Amino acid sequence: MPTLLEEVADHSRGPLRTKVPAFLFFTSLKKIATFSYRCNLSRQAFTLSSNFLTHMKNKSLLILSALAMMSVLPAAAAAEPKRMVVCTITEGFRHSSIPQSEKALQAIDEASPNLEIVKWLRQPEIEVPVAPRPPKEPADKASQDKYQRAMQAWDRDVKPEADRKKRELHEAVKKSLLALSPQALRDNRIDAVIFSNTTGNLPLPDLQGFADWVRSGGAFIGMHSATDTLKGALPYTEMICGIFEGHREQVPVKLHAGDKEHPANAGIGAIWTLAQEEMYLIKQHDRNLVRSIWFMRHHPNDPKQEGFFPVAWVRKFGEGRVFYTSLGHREDLWSTDPALPDRINSVETAAQFRQHLTGGIRWAVGLETGSSEPNPQTN
Ligand SMILES: [Zn+2]
Repeated sequence: MPTLLEEVADHSRGPLRTKVPAFLFFTSLKKIATFSYRCNLSRQAFTLSSNFLTHMKNKSLLILSALAMMSVLPAAAAAEPKRMVVCTITEGFRHSSIPQSEKALQAIDEASPNLEIVKWLRQPEIEVPVAPRPPKEPADKASQDKYQRAMQAWDRDVKPEADRKKRELHEAVKKSLLALSPQALRDNRIDAVIFSNTTGNLPLPDLQGFADWVRSGGAFIGMHSATDTLKGALPYTEMICGIFEGHREQVPVKLHAGDKEHPANAGIGAIWTLAQEEMYLIKQHDRNLVRSIWFMRHHPNDPKQEGFFPVAWVRKFGEGRVFYTSLGHREDLWSTDPALPDRINSVETAAQFRQHLTGGIRWAVGLETGSSEPNPQTN
């Protein structure tokens, strides 16, 4: 399949606009700007109207314009951004920070001329009624009776509708995730897929095919509960190289750099302190397969328990690249808004987190260099 670069090169020998897929025009303002720029060029270069020609009285200006267009066109084509799909769908726990994470990723897109989110896979807007919660133990007789009555009413009046909505939601999620079939990823010339705070058993159309797509040269980027996603699915856990094991209360945390030179270090240096975050414990993580980017030297909630506790890493996966960071629980890491309520992490820390993400994404899509050589001895 020709890349867009090749397509544009091809167009320069023939009618330009007809072969550019129409959906490309509408992916974002930036994209529209890029394309209207290119289309303007093409219009000027190839469909100069006689009306326009009559206005071009100065012949030398015409020649100069033509020369300028010829030199600018390949440059515009070369700047074609890396095309990304972002998924924030959850089949399990849903983080309250997801809206902030979506804003942050949008801001990364807008700040990066050579990164483009071409598709969002967001939670379908289908509300599923939630069953009454049992009273906290120990519960007195009155609250137990109250719960019993609520459950009887639920079973009688709401549960059939809740089950129907649940099926409807699942079908909508399945439909949305068709965008991650190997064929769809190839057809849309996707460079990277981002799982940002996804959870649960996402019904991907072809999980093995998805992992193989990454292995054949795609990029996969996961944030926070991306390791609390598809936990029983080997092709996925093998690729991301870890499974969420659990977490305790949020804590201040001191992170150590596994590679200070890597773009995902974001120039933060050897130590990165966060005022507060929910720190994951990760299992089934093979240090011989990954390059550690950030780690802790002791259990986040038990400083006496020393050891290596992974936080963020990169790896080669076949020809593909994977970047994962377990950070991203708290809204004040995602948001750089000083007025965000209940802020504990500073705006500076949030800006560092954003740089950490940007560096990791840019590395994963090949825009920046950085080693993926495993560094299991780092401590
Ligand atoms: Zn969390």
